[in-house]
Amino acid sequence: MAIRISNIKLPIDHTEKDFIQAIEKKLRLPIKKVKAYEIIKRSIDARKDVRFVYQIEATLTTDEKKLVEKLHSQDVQIVKEKKQKELIPGDEELLYPPIVIGAGPAGLFAALELAKYGYKPLILERGRDVERRNKDILHFWRTGELNIHSNVQFGEGGAGTFSDGKLTTRIKDSRIDQVFQTFVEEGAPKEILYVHKPHIGTDNLKKIVYNLRQWLIKMGATIKFDSLVTNLIIEEGKIVAVEVNYKYQIPAQVVVMAIGHSARDTYEMLYQQGVTIQGKPLAIGARIEHPQQLINEAQYGSYANAPQLGAADYTLVKSAGESEDDRACYSFCMCPGGVVVAAASEKGMVVTNGMSYYSRASRVANSALVATVSTDDFKGDDPLAGVRFLRKYEKKAYQLGGGGYKAPAQKVGDFLDGVPSNDLDDVPFRPTYRPGITPTDLHLTLPDFVSQSLEQAISVFGKKLRGYDTRNAVLTGVETRTSAPVRIPRKEDFQSENVIGLYPAGEGAGYAGGIVSAAVDGIRVAELLIETYRRPRKNF
Ligand code: FAD
Repeated sequence: MAIRISNIKLPIDHTEKDFIQAIEKKLRLPIKKVKAYEIIKRSIDARKDVRFVYQIEATLTTDEKKLVEKLHSQDVQIVKEKKQKELIPGDEELLYPPIVIGAGPAGLFAALELAKYGYKPLILERGRDVERRNKDILHFWRTGELNIHSNVQFGEGGAGTFSDGKLTTRIKDSRIDQVFQTFVEEGAPKEILYVHKPHIGTDNLKKIVYNLRQWLIKMGATIKFDSLVTNLIIEEGKIVAVEVNYKYQIPAQVVVMAIGHSARDTYEMLYQQGVTIQGKPLAIGARIEHPQQLINEAQYGSYANAPQLGAADYTLVKSAGESEDDRACYSFCMCPGGVVVAAASEKGMVVTNGMSYYSRASRVANSALVATVSTDDFKGDDPLAGVRFLRKYEKKAYQLGGGGYKAPAQKVGDFLDGVPSNDLDDVPFRPTYRPGITPTDLHLTLPDFVSQSLEQAISVFGKKLRGYDTRNAVLTGVETRTSAPVRIPRKEDFQSENVIGLYPAGEGAGYAGGIVSAAVDGIRVAELLIETYRRPRKNF
């Protein structure tokens, strides 16, 4: 039996001896009575003096239950045993290997679960393997030559591979531990298991994605890259095959559709095929860059340069005002010590996003600053109206940037004053977006209500985080891929509302937002498949 000890507060420069003394104090026992302990959570309390707050689990040489009763403290509790769910394979016959479309977190984790139970999935990914994808992306950033199938959105690992790799999520699900354990087994730093806001970084993510592929193949899965699913063959409401690259068909009985939020051509194909899809609200805006030191000082005060704390982050939210043009705004995908990335996936459209390496060592902090957009703001009632809405502003950004995927950018002061930026000479850092930025007026690439909402938000956020509204912070646009513009609704059994055998999953289906929740959703769908279908015969 283990006990959990919470609220161990220590200065950020504490020693191991301090840590042990704090445990002894909480337990009122000498450390020799502790058989083993493990840190399960570490957060930063920056309210007064900046401190670390730990939670640990320990086993003792004495009776844990008696001690907990004696101490009668909220901070020392017995740990409830977590029971690993054993899946019992179902009875229905599976004629063909399950097909997983998309090798992002949802698709990869669905495939892993299926492969672990011997279901030998076939993964079809439109993009390239992570090694070739890496080269394509670096080439794009250097030259402005975009590969529409191998980019920041598409390719092995999915949209989050070239990211900060933040693993924070708002969902509560026992499968989260499984996702974290898998990341650690495949090369993530072990600390992700206990730090409050874990992140992996692009450098680690690329390795992990590569390792996951090796593991999948070992377990009997097949992965086909450069394989765009161009059609679903549906007969009498049932999926019977998928078409790849407009060229050939693969017979199918169950298809996990984990296509992410940027597969607009695939959304169009689904709509044409009569698969039920719905438009959904979204958020758009721009990336904002500040010196990382400014954020560190705002968050940690005199501790700003403490190496133990690393680069500081923030989360900012503003609710909607009374006017139609004062929408709810929030910061999104904050990348401490990172870079703004060119994240387009279609020709002639500019899209921004952010990423960091594990060290978060760049001197610039960035995050998206976005305002909410409702389906009433789209022109048109069909489910693809949101896609058209996003494309319109991405195209404007391309034009305003002057071509070659340069992005329009503006100093915050000029944005608030409503005047274009002619240069960014007095900005105290080099804006990080590549292949380059064009100083201009960002109002020209955003809907008026979004510009106005962002202006309000910048002032409000400046009061919450000192320096956020500094005049020579830089805005780069447009940020349009915060979530899917479409939902592919599914029934309780996770199948599409009107196509038997089609299992929409992850962010692209509207059932997740972020790496961890997408991975968890993939596992949930795979578990259901395992519990429905009989394990395939050997010659599958
Ligand atoms: P995706 O990861 O989008 O994967 C979908 C896959 O399907 C893609 O690889 C695509 O190529 C493939 N595909 C699409 N259509 C087809 C088709 N027709 N045929 C074959 N293959 C197809 N989230 C976080 O939690 N933390 C972060 O720090 C973070 N940073 C991000 C930074 C960037 C630059 C971006 C773009 C996203 C970031 N996100 C982050 C969001 C996160 O990446 C997504 O929420 C997550 O990847 C969604 O997973 P998914 O598997 O549902 O979809």
